[in-house]
Amino acid sequence: MDVLQRARQLVHGAERMVALTGAGISTDSGIPDFRGPNGVWTKNPAAEKLSDIRHYITDKLVREQSWLGRLDHPAWLAQPNPAHLALVALERAGRLGAIVTQNIDGLHQKAGSAPDRVIELHGTLNESVCLTCGDRRPMQETLDRVRNGESDPPCLRCGGILKSATISFGQPLDDQVLYRARVAALTCDVLLAAGSSLTVQPAAGLVGIAASAGARIIMCNASETPYDGVAEAVLHGPLGKLLPALL
Ligand code: NAD
Repeated sequence: MDVLQRARQLVHGAERMVALTGAGISTDSGIPDFRGPNGVWTKNPAAEKLSDIRHYITDKLVREQSWLGRLDHPAWLAQPNPAHLALVALERAGRLGAIVTQNIDGLHQKAGSAPDRVIELHGTLNESVCLTCGDRRPMQETLDRVRNGESDPPCLRCGGILKSATISFGQPLDDQVLYRARVAALTCDVLLAAGSSLTVQPAAGLVGIAASAGARIIMCNASETPYDGVAEAVLHGPLGKLLPALL
């Protein structure tokens, strides 16, 4: 039996399947990943350092650059691709309990995945949040202020530093969100990891949690990951083709 057949068998036998997705599922939608061959950090390693929250808090220039980058972020024009749609079809067939995503682009929800089944581990680009008082606003409202000349817009409620509602290095994940993700990993019978280099913790560790709790692991990615060894089926290739073929 070839590996695709084996993976299909696992999917068909699953009753409580969970998908763990990363930036690689959205590259076909025009959003570059960080660590793939054309990744933002592969091309410019200095950018990784600047994504630390300490730089953001202490350096106004970093914040100004960050807001400028948000203005024309590829996520605003991106559309879901066949990989996102394959997960929607699986959910509608009653086979997919949750999508735990490291992505911040909202494309799973845009594709039609039920929002309450999408667990956004690293937050969302669609909102801004105040680092002092926690006030949240739609991102486009804050970006309008940037367009109108505020290069580093302060919080409208308390004057604190605003940031996209995404998790940077050095920032803790939301406890409730992480709890939901861990429960999903602990209780699934098959975990499909797709489009992640699985190098960022605690997201990557969910694969180990699921495997230790007895779940079968299917790995779909263009390149190898540190968790390939615990997977029962490892599929290498473009997700836009792999996931529709698999699911
Ligand atoms: P990563 O950049 O570390 O890894 C992406 C992986 O996907 C790589 O191993 C790459 O080989 C693979 N890949 C890329 N395109 C693919 C394709 N078409 N088919 C199959 N595989 C493909 O991304 P990560 O593991 O998700 O972790 C990085 C962090 O980057 C996350 O915290 C996430 O929040 C953030 N991020 C998110 C987005 C987004 O929301 N779309 C984009 C860039 C980065």
